Amino acid sequence: MSEKFIPLTDHRQYKANLRIPAQLEQPVGMLADTMGRPLHDLRISVTDRCNFRCVYCMPKEVFDKDYHFLPQTSLLSFEEITRIARIFVAHGVSKIRLTGGEPLLRKNIEKLIAMLSEIPTHDGRRLDLTLTTNGSLLARKAQSLKDAGLTRVTVSLDAMNEATFKRMNDVDFSVSDVLDGITAAHYVGLGPIKINMVVKGGMNDDQIIPMARYFKNTPHILRFIEYMDVGASNGWKLDEVIPSAEIVRRINAAGMKLIAIDPNYKGETAERWRYEAENNSGSGEIGLISSVTQAFCHDCSRARLSTEGKLYTCLFANQGHDLRALLRDDQLTHSDLAISNVVAQLWQARGDRYSELRSQNTPQQPVAGKKIEMSYIGG
Ligand code: SAM
Ligand code: SF4
Ligand code: SF4
Repeated sequence: MSEKFIPLTDHRQYKANLRIPAQLEQPVGMLADTMGRPLHDLRISVTDRCNFRCVYCMPKEVFDKDYHFLPQTSLLSFEEITRIARIFVAHGVSKIRLTGGEPLLRKNIEKLIAMLSEIPTHDGRRLDLTLTTNGSLLARKAQSLKDAGLTRVTVSLDAMNEATFKRMNDVDFSVSDVLDGITAAHYVGLGPIKINMVVKGGMNDDQIIPMARYFKNTPHILRFIEYMDVGASNGWKLDEVIPSAEIVRRINAAGMKLIAIDPNYKGETAERWRYEAENNSGSGEIGLISSVTQAFCHDCSRARLSTEGKLYTCLFANQGHDLRALLRDDQLTHSDLAISNVVAQLWQARGDRYSELRSQNTPQQPVAGKKIEMSYIGG
């Protein structure tokens, strides 16, 4: 059996230079990085495994039977995740998204949700606790997720056409099964549900209109995502990106008139549009995530925690900060306050703005340097 070499391995190195400051300060619920950006969002990858092989994320040629996924002992335990989450929330995080890989594959995920849902925000409110899923296990799990305290879900779906969807997920999974998951999630109250469609030119862009038609007049918010140069395995090319402006043009041209609407909050990733109401009937909202053509780094307030406990301050970072090493240090026991001060230091030193630099440099090419895979760091 041949050993696979995949670029991801390089990025799992231990970064030993996390320093506990001599003078420890209590968190005040507000941190700003070098560009004045607050820390509001934490995305936690709970597994690097997935039952799909989406061509833009985990292509089969790389993520095959010889691929080395992380061993169970490397994963953060639920107690470790909750401990880190508590520290981030004390710094002002009010929204936590579980992701992966496929988060619903993590055994007893409901238990983790129940533990996280008990953490109040810095100002005593309920956390916005959400999850992004490919929908394959959602019909079965929607009720237990809701009961555990999940606020809402985002479901990925890249096509209405069966053959196209199967070509995208590459494991022969059916559209109707994802739609059943969405229905179940809506029924138990995990809404408003967002539907993520990654648009890859020449592969599923003919599905923009069918997807828009299907989700128009529903309470679900369809979000079109520009295909990104994330990771090192999807062979990204700029000419496969369909710019958001083109998506709006196509939907308008198909007779579904769109009107731009204000963001819900500063730093929202999706640009919001609603359909012009026909005969005074409300007809829904869409979102456009233009990571390639309109970088939104200036407002980015997201931190990412990898499956094995490394903190990434940008989706495109090539190095993580090993928080698990602090949690599992066999020489010293670190207090929550010590770890909290390390997190504060890392965020205050943050200057990431990969997408803006990509746009400014050579927009044809991703910025040079090795990057971590989306399935490891979480979308
Ligand atoms: N497995 C879950 C899912 O697919 O919803 C959660 C993890 S997935 C990495 C999170 C999101 O990232 C999904 O909506 C997926 O479509 C998106 N994604 C993955 N690779 C991408 C890429 N190259 N460009 C843009 N979005 C991508
Ligand atoms: Fe799996 Fe989600 Fe990546 Fe698709 S996008 S391969 S479902 S992790
Ligand atoms: Fe945030 Fe990095 Fe994406 Fe910019 S490129 S929006 S800094 S994650």
